[in-house]
Amino acid sequence: MKFTVNKEEYVLDEDKFGAFRNDEEKPVQNIDEEDILKILENRELDFEKAYYSIPCENCNSEKSGEKKIYKFFEYHLYLYTKDCEVVTNSLDIKDEETSFKRLLNQKEVDNSYIVTIMVCCDCGDFEIEIDEFEI
Ligand SMILES: [Zn+2]
Repeated sequence: MKFTVNKEEYVLDEDKFGAFRNDEEKPVQNIDEEDILKILENRELDFEKAYYSIPCENCNSEKSGEKKIYKFFEYHLYLYTKDCEVVTNSLDIKDEETSFKRLLNQKEVDNSYIVTIMVCCDCGDFEIEIDEFEI
């Protein structure tokens, strides 16, 4: 999985992988960073600029970190689950909201999670975080 910003290419692979954080209270079952990267593969994704108050764990954001504002790129998607197992995700369904409601009504899913992919602007290391998303 890779994406380009300002002619700079960021590759999300094993080398750049930093951390995977699942929801603490109600973690999604049978999922890891490889599953998430597989979902992202071969898609045109718009990563957005994000500013964090905590620097990159890998490079400490020494290149761009000033005034304790650290630059990252961020991307979000949603996982739709049943009994904490992934059924589908927001990139695999058309018309997200309608589809999700339909799946919910048909009891094919019973919960949703937001997945945040955070990429350090400086060194390209990335982290993946999954949090339960209130329906
Ligand atoms: Zn970094």
